[in-house]
Amino acid sequence: MRKKNNLVINEKKLKKEDVKSKWYKIYMKKKPNQTKPDWVPEPLKKKCFQCKSNILIKFVVPNKDYSQKNSWSYWTEKKQDQGKYICDGCLFKLYNNKILYWKTITSPKKKQRMRTYVFTGTISS
Ligand SMILES: [Zn+2]
Repeated sequence: MRKKNNLVINEKKLKKEDVKSKWYKIYMKKKPNQTKPDWVPEPLKKKCFQCKSNILIKFVVPNKDYSQKNSWSYWTEKKQDQGKYICDGCLFKLYNNKILYWKTITSPKKKQRMRTYVFTGTISS
């Protein structure tokens, strides 16, 4: 049994019978990602809850998750805002409306992040 587990199959040398064999199937199961090595999930299509414009939410590979930047609850940290999305333009407008901004985004961490995004141009009008 040990030998079979370490089996290396040269795909070019495979005969028709081998392709149908049990070992070939196990071999293929062990490398399911090889057919799509650079596969990244599709961006999510969402609508801004403020201006109704379309937003594409990109998948961030190093984070293994979708970008949080346009998620409204990410900024407000409020449960009732979950599932709401906001576009960069509306975030930028909010940032410039200081009274509303300080009222809406209460977490110092998120305020810091928003400032960074605006200064680096990640969020712009
Ligand atoms: Zn918007």
